[in-house]
Amino acid sequence: MKSIAAILGAFILTGQASAVSLLLPPKKPKNIILMIGDGTGLVHLYAAYVAKGGQLDIYAFAKHIGLSITASANDFVTDSAAGATALSIGSKTNNGMIGVLPDSSKRETIAETAAKKGLSTGAVVTCELPHATPAAFYAHQPSRKMYAEIVKDMTANTAASILIGGGLPYFDTNALKSAGYSVSVGTETMSKNTGKRQICFIDTLKEPLPVAQRGPTLVHGSVHAIQHLSKNKKGFFLMIEGSQIDWGAHNNDSAHTIAEAIDFDLAAGEVLKWAKNNKRTLVIITADHECGGLTLHDYDKVNKRPTMNFSSGHHTAEPVPVYAFGPGSEAFSGVYQNTAIYHKMMDLLNLKSK
Ligand SMILES: [Zn+2]
Repeated sequence: MKSIAAILGAFILTGQASAVSLLLPPKKPKNIILMIGDGTGLVHLYAAYVAKGGQLDIYAFAKHIGLSITASANDFVTDSAAGATALSIGSKTNNGMIGVLPDSSKRETIAETAAKKGLSTGAVVTCELPHATPAAFYAHQPSRKMYAEIVKDMTANTAASILIGGGLPYFDTNALKSAGYSVSVGTETMSKNTGKRQICFIDTLKEPLPVAQRGPTLVHGSVHAIQHLSKNKKGFFLMIEGSQIDWGAHNNDSAHTIAEAIDFDLAAGEVLKWAKNNKRTLVIITADHECGGLTLHDYDKVNKRPTMNFSSGHHTAEPVPVYAFGPGSEAFSGVYQNTAIYHKMMDLLNLKSK
């Protein structure tokens, strides 16, 4: 019987490189960047694509596309707390709950497990840091409204190497410094923050402004976080959230929804370009749920964007797309529960659930 080496040699000699790759185990990523467009259904991104004149980096880069079913443990329609918790711990929980099961018992998040294995982790968001999505990765509380407890959890949590977002007034900067964080405020000073553990507040407000006033903090934050995290040779896990797409949709505000979706794509473009050069990075771009029941009926020539019809001021049960790029991206094709995204990521990073 011919040895594997002899067979591989024969393939190489006959130029059948693709046949060789079929015999090799699929490549696993060293780094995972999970990008969450809060409230961002299929239509929100398509609206941004139309408004950008038929271009979107997420569409251009996406290799494998799936659909995620977002219902929570106790509701057909999820909120952001349960939606993000499904992604962070791989279990459905009740609406409003952060990093815990429906019985309030804590479960280790993917960021915490990754950090224990020596990977660096972080989050970049355009909401305040104790808000539901970032909190679900670095806090464990029965209610998303418990900001004081969530802030305590996030301050004490040693899993994060970098946190970028708003909400400075909620935090005690002395406590952050005692916990080893190097604290900076403002996007200009972010690039000068060279601490081993960093918390970069994008402004001094409780809640960050819309992108029109805020500027491209998501792009700057994403680039800064990748520069910081990629110093770790063992790899990293980074969560990036376009937080305010959801806020625009709740308000049925077409201009705000589109502007935030374009901002999210801008950040995704930088992330995807970096991942393309760094061959061992998997990028997953998805949402926690749809918001607004958005449909497009026509093209608005005056505002150069689609005519947007919101059927709701709340979230809906519509499954959300999952766009994946990089090693392991093929695992994200198909239709599955939101919790499967966590299990696929854990498997690809060789991490075990606790
Ligand atoms: Zn929402």
